[in-house]
Amino acid sequence: MTSVTHDKTMDRRRFLFAALGGGAALAIGGVSAARLFGANGGGAMAATAATTSTAPQLLLECFADDDGHNLGPCYVRKLLLTDAQWHARLSDAAFSVMRRAGTEIAFSGPHEKPNSKGMYRCAGCDTALFDAATQFDSGTGWPSFWKPIAKQNVIEINDTSFGMTRTAISCAGCDSHLGHVFDDGPQPTGLRYCMNSVAMRFVAFRTS
Ligand SMILES: [Zn+2]
Repeated sequence: MTSVTHDKTMDRRRFLFAALGGGAALAIGGVSAARLFGANGGGAMAATAATTSTAPQLLLECFADDDGHNLGPCYVRKLLLTDAQWHARLSDAAFSVMRRAGTEIAFSGPHEKPNSKGMYRCAGCDTALFDAATQFDSGTGWPSFWKPIAKQNVIEINDTSFGMTRTAISCAGCDSHLGHVFDDGPQPTGLRYCMNSVAMRFVAFRTS
C-alpha cells in the first residue's frame, strides 16, 4: 500500500520535471523546484500550476511522508479542475462528498485511530490535513481530530444548510469539502473536526 502510494508520488514528480522543462519554472516565482518536490503534497498541485497559471498561489504548510516532520511553508497553486476532471480523479463517493458537500454514512469508512503513526492527506490534491496523533474516537462513525496538522491547510466556511449553523471545513489546496468542526471535542483544543473518511487518504510513516 505504502509503496504504491510512493510510486504514484514519484510519477507526479516526474511529470512536474517534464512540465518545468518547458520553462514553467519561471512562473513559480522564486520557489525552487527542490522546494516544491520537498513539499511532498504540492506535487499534484504544482503540476497543475504548470498548466493553470491563473490559479491562485497559496502559502501552505508542507509535511514529509516518511515521518511527518514539518517541511515549513511552501508555495503551491490551488488545484482548479472541471467537474469532469474531478470525476476522473475521485471515486463517485468522494466526488459526492468533496465536490457536492455531501456526507458519507456514519461508520461506512475507516474512522478509528490507526495502529500506526501517520497522517491524512486530501484525497483530491494531497495537501496534508491531519496528524493521526490528534485523532480520537468520537463514537460518531466519522474520523475525528482535535486539530488540523496546520491551520492554513484548511478553510473554515459558515454553513447554514439543513437549518443548522455549522462550520464547514474545506481543503485549502483544492477547496474540496472535507467535513465540519464542532466545539465539543477533547482538550487541549476542545474542538472536534468531524471528517469524511472518503475525502482523505492515510499515509503511514515509514519511520517513527
Ligand atoms: Zn485538497
